[in-house]
Amino acid sequence: MELTLLYRGPLASCDYDCPYCPFAKRRDPPERLRADRAALERFTGWVAERRDDRLSVLFTPWGEGLVRSWYRRALVELSRLPQVRRVAIQTNLSCRTDWLAGADLSTLALWCTHHPGQTSYDRFLGRCRELAERGVRYSVGIVGLPEHLDRARRLRADLPEHVYLWVNAAEGRAYPDEEADRWTAVDPLFPYSRYPHRSAGLPCRTGESVVSVDGEGTVRRCHFVPEPLGNLYDGSWRAALRPRTCPLAVCDCHIGYVHLESLPLYDVFAGGVLERIPAAPVPVHIPLPGRGPSPSGA
Ligand code: SF4
Ligand code: SF4
Repeated sequence: MELTLLYRGPLASCDYDCPYCPFAKRRDPPERLRADRAALERFTGWVAERRDDRLSVLFTPWGEGLVRSWYRRALVELSRLPQVRRVAIQTNLSCRTDWLAGADLSTLALWCTHHPGQTSYDRFLGRCRELAERGVRYSVGIVGLPEHLDRARRLRADLPEHVYLWVNAAEGRAYPDEEADRWTAVDPLFPYSRYPHRSAGLPCRTGESVVSVDGEGTVRRCHFVPEPLGNLYDGSWRAALRPRTCPLAVCDCHIGYVHLESLPLYDVFAGGVLERIPAAPVPVHIPLPGRGPSPSGA
């Protein structure tokens, strides 16, 4: 069986304090961290036993996972399993990169988000350059808020050319054409993020070849449709897999709508759907500012 799993355990804490996030600077009590670790180890153990399947895994924690040793270990271990085609995680890239030395980099990838105000530009860019030097597959993104535009342009200029810089429309924000054009000049695929996608009744691969899994092993078709399909660990979910249409009105998150069959995103991101890396470089249309150190250091 060929299957993509989106895993999100109990972890709900972060080392950053982004003003647009409910998990900003939240701390998990020790018992939640222990539960998160146990749940993740159970999940990776399950993946390790699936020798006849071909699996792709994206970790989408609430909060930041890579500051926890068990996420770093899970990524390294899963990357080395022959049945794992891809393992990726969404991260703010605050952690060091030396742990990646143990991973199979033909399988591991990172979805990195830059949060201006939480880390210095030079520090974040330095981490990205470390990833490039190590040969890690990664994308970089930013939330499309007006105060982030200069930072986004600067990143586009300074990142290695082969690294895709994506822009996520800020939740609930309407983008007049002129503003949308500015973001599209940085990320030519921004039009896919600009509006929520009408999805009601449209075929979506989730529930057939893609599922979401929580810390207890509850399997759902995606993170947004609450109806369970079964439990991962008793095998009850397998019988529920079948072609499905979306029961919701809209899908407004990339990790959801990328799987809509009515969109061409499996072609656009062929080979990099989970880590959001396009199959071919996307041409950028902005006059790029000169490269060099950040004037503010911020
Ligand atoms: S880094 Fe991500 S999880 Fe952490 S506060 Fe910012 S948006 Fe939230
Ligand atoms: S379109 Fe989005 S919300 Fe609907 S089933 Fe697919 S991933 Fe879930």
